[in-house]
Amino acid sequence: MRLILLGPPGAGKGTQALRLVGRHGIPQLSTGDMLRAAVQAGTEVGKRAKAVMDAGELVSDAIVNAIVAERIDQADCANGFILDGYPRTLVQADAVEEMLSDRGLELDAVIEFVVDDKALVGRIVKRAEEAKAAGLPVRKDDSPAVFEERLREYYKKTSPLIGYYYAKGKLRGVDGMADIDAVTQQIEAVLRATTRQVGQAAG
Ligand code: AMP
Repeated sequence: MRLILLGPPGAGKGTQALRLVGRHGIPQLSTGDMLRAAVQAGTEVGKRAKAVMDAGELVSDAIVNAIVAERIDQADCANGFILDGYPRTLVQADAVEEMLSDRGLELDAVIEFVVDDKALVGRIVKRAEEAKAAGLPVRKDDSPAVFEERLREYYKKTSPLIGYYYAKGKLRGVDGMADIDAVTQQIEAVLRATTRQVGQAAG
């Protein structure tokens, strides 16, 4: 199963991706996590990405496309993967198409987290407060000002992907404002319907 989780920052993609990993045994490929690891490790990519990430802007397509292309060839991706936070631009979406078709693979579904963006800012402030209270490091880009820039980047560069995947018949919406378990149930229903469709097409 190959899935894309699409939605603005703070929509709950990461939380749901982790649940999907547990239920379906396929890895979560979060470009945000990979980039943060590169920053932490002080690699060349990390050095180039850090300032851009701290400002809430998008890292270049070339960098993220290269990271993902390398990652999906690893053994744990053989049965599928969940793309979380990628693709985020039309150039990246075209790159995904190419990466998959080069390998004879197909995308099963793109799950769009439909949210109320005013509520998102509140959610992210809460996430930062909870992390702080738990003694965990707070993401620099979770400050309200940077978060708003991330949201602007989403509407400018990522939201066109909704139309892109709708036109391909791959888009499935879930209510990202519902509680965590309800969102998981909606995603599972989407996956059951997708698997049925694939089965019918094959049979
Ligand atoms: P995330 O953890 O998905 O919210 O990503 C954190 C930050 O990493 C983003 O604000 C971007 O600066 C960068 N980033 C993550 N994924 C991408 C991507 N697909 N394209 C460009 N930049 C990305």
